[in-house]
Amino acid sequence: MGRFSFNYWIFDLDNTLYPPSSLVMKQVGQRIRSFIQQYLDVDMIIAARLQEEYKKKYGTSLRGLMLHHQISADEFLEYVHQVDLAALETNQELAYIIREIPGNKYIFTNSTIKHANNVLAKLDLNDCFDGIFDVRCAGYIPKPQDEAYQEFIRHYGIKAEEAIFFEDTAINLIPAAAFGMTTVLVAPESSRQNLIPYIHYHMSDVTDGLKQILNQG
Ligand SMILES: [Mg+2]
Repeated sequence: MGRFSFNYWIFDLDNTLYPPSSLVMKQVGQRIRSFIQQYLDVDMIIAARLQEEYKKKYGTSLRGLMLHHQISADEFLEYVHQVDLAALETNQELAYIIREIPGNKYIFTNSTIKHANNVLAKLDLNDCFDGIFDVRCAGYIPKPQDEAYQEFIRHYGIKAEEAIFFEDTAINLIPAAAFGMTTVLVAPESSRQNLIPYIHYHMSDVTDGLKQILNQG
């Protein structure tokens, strides 16, 4: 496997292990807005503004809602992940590739273990990973906050310089690279933004991309 020999393979979940075209995250986004609207008794425009503002400032809307509005994190997480996963397709090829990779494989997600298990079951990837680290595992502190990575690294005893991290959200790669991980942006070319120093590799699709790098040697 040459330069792609890593002991720790870390994957974000949503829009990384399946394409954004499934619209799963679009549904989550809508449910976040509707939660804010109902919980704070505001209109949809304000709800959308708060959602964006908090996500930008703290990494997730949830974190902002917790800090500024004392919402119930568990109620929020349960509500926003009640989504239709029908559009997710079994990905046998990806399951095979991940199972064949030597080393420890983890999911690192700002969602929940329950949502991750639902998604992985639909993709048929449920037996591919050694652990799922969700937003509760780091005390609701999400990526891209340093504390989330520190806790993730500590929890599994990961050596960051022996780790490779796959993620569709470019800013979440900044701390990963700073901690010493090799980073891979999984997203269309247009979303690379201006974070090139933190993005060591780029692939538009995780299955095709993994196939390529693992065959390169
Ligand atoms: Mg993602």
